Amino acid sequence: MENSTVRYTCVTCGACCKERLIPLTIAEAEKWLDRGDHVAIILEAFSYLTDPEISPEYIHNTSRAAIVNKDKGRLHIIAIFAANALKRCPNLQENNLCGIYEERPLVCRIYPMEINPFIELRKENKICPPESWGNGDILCSDGVANPPLRLLINESKQADVDDAAAKVAICESLGMSVASWKGDGLAVYFPGSEALLAAIQTRNSRQREDGYQWKVRTDNAGLREILLAAEIPLAPGESNAYIYQAL
Ligand code: SF4
Ligand code: SF4
Repeated sequence: MENSTVRYTCVTCGACCKERLIPLTIAEAEKWLDRGDHVAIILEAFSYLTDPEISPEYIHNTSRAAIVNKDKGRLHIIAIFAANALKRCPNLQENNLCGIYEERPLVCRIYPMEINPFIELRKENKICPPESWGNGDILCSDGVANPPLRLLINESKQADVDDAAAKVAICESLGMSVASWKGDGLAVYFPGSEALLAAIQTRNSRQREDGYQWKVRTDNAGLREILLAAEIPLAPGESNAYIYQAL
């Protein structure tokens, strides 16, 4: 951002609680489902094939991914569990206040600051109205979040690392086996809440199956060629199991 110090105050417009998927840790997803609300799952695959430089961003992504297809067509898979607020968050009250304020998810506590260290905070990319910027507490200085926010961001990043393998194992137990290619598309699943909650609650007693094979969904002809050459299985074009959106 141009200004080295960014001041911000939430004006409780409620805009960030509508029309979105809200990433959750596993523990947050369990509570979300327990309250009777819905959780979607976004599955992303990647490998060195399209990022041969092993950049800091690549290393960051591997830390929040699980390795699958170990014998052939090896891939990293990131599973994002996300509260379904595609219309509006079920916890958003009529007065635009959060109904679970004391236990709201980490990403809600961190917004509008960025969690991803490779994304710069830009006001124009945030849904907060103009009057929320320029006054109130310091959000960040020279791109560095204020100390309490830094703690929350670190907590969120650590949960991403700690939960990475378990989230993929949970997806496997529910039969999900197709991921989009990171940056190329989005594959979004809407599992049944009871089944997902049961899979989360039994995750510690669950072993990942050695032979479980993941496939990649892409409509990009060039990428399909690269993946086929690396013996990475491709998913057929249509499926009722998930919604696919090319980027
Ligand atoms: S949990 Fe609360 S803060 Fe988070 S999106 Fe829902 S209403 Fe908004
Ligand atoms: S969009 Fe910004 S100002 Fe509006 S409720 Fe969310 S955080 Fe607050």
